[in-house]
Amino acid sequence: MKVLIATVKPFAMVAIEGIRQECEAAGYELALLERYTEKQQLLEAVADVDALIVRSDIVDKDVFDAAKQLKIVVRAGAGYDNIDLDEATAHNVCVMNTPGQNSNAVSELAFGLMIMAVRNFYDGKPGIELKGRKLGIHAYGNVGRNVARIAKGFGMDIYAYDAYCSKEVMEADGVHPIEKVEDLYKTCQIVSLHLPMTSETKESVNYDLVNLMPRNGLLVNTARKEVVNEMDLLRLLNDRLDLRYVTDIKPNYHDEFVHNYPGRYFSTPKKMGAQTSEANINAGIAAARQIVGYLKEGCEKFRLNK
Ligand code: NAD
Repeated sequence: MKVLIATVKPFAMVAIEGIRQECEAAGYELALLERYTEKQQLLEAVADVDALIVRSDIVDKDVFDAAKQLKIVVRAGAGYDNIDLDEATAHNVCVMNTPGQNSNAVSELAFGLMIMAVRNFYDGKPGIELKGRKLGIHAYGNVGRNVARIAKGFGMDIYAYDAYCSKEVMEADGVHPIEKVEDLYKTCQIVSLHLPMTSETKESVNYDLVNLMPRNGLLVNTARKEVVNEMDLLRLLNDRLDLRYVTDIKPNYHDEFVHNYPGRYFSTPKKMGAQTSEANINAGIAAARQIVGYLKEGCEKFRLNK
């Protein structure tokens, strides 16, 4: 069996060594395609592989067509909108992600952004504290739960909305469950986004929703840029001078945000949420283990497609 790691943004060396150990222990060969610049390089590299590990790399119909022996693709990370699940199913390929492996990294970054914003981007003027503030967690998955865990340490008053997670799960964590998403935004001065990008969530964080936030509202996005309606947000920041937006995913209209809303907007230069050595290693090794589990034992935990 041959496993390929195909990453435009490579894993850390120590992660690759961990993946190699998992593969070699299973008797598999490991191949590497890093920092590729042309799709053609990926199409050639997948021709004879049985398993593929990617990060944010696009895995579309062309890739599945080119990968005649492919049995499984694992996205080392949480979001999997870079993989065409229908095409995978049509080509009889199993797709998995590695949920939870980078959640702590992302949630810590959410607080980094939050603190920077509530301290006025360190401009020398007095800011506010997180203690006692109402924090709204929009989507209570792996990252959302870690945000709640850390928020408790800050002494925040924590609320969460999730379309699919039960209120018992939230209550067990000492979090106030919210039934209607609008109520989350009405209630909380700080809202942190942890939604996956789906047809349902795309641009769902829009003018009307964010406009419900109380005075001096702060929106923190470590999820995906697509879940926010950027045009709406640009308009809203214009209409409401008290609102701020901090994000780990540079918007398409980044230049407009920077130009129009200095002191109320910040984006990391590139997506940094999962960029820690711990997350890198955890996700890569989990991907390798899931491949071995699937190919040797048919284990389908974390399978995403039918
Ligand atoms: P997860 O799958 O564990 O949790 C997602 C949660 O969203 C689930 O609880 C689900 O029920 C909920 N959800 C789905 N649709 C919803 C809807 N319409 N309304 C409300 N809730 C909904 O994923 P996670 O590990 O917590 O990651 C969350 C997102 O963060 C990922 O999908 C990814 O887009 C993003 N992410 C970003 C980075 C980064 O580097 N900034 C890294 C990892 C993940």
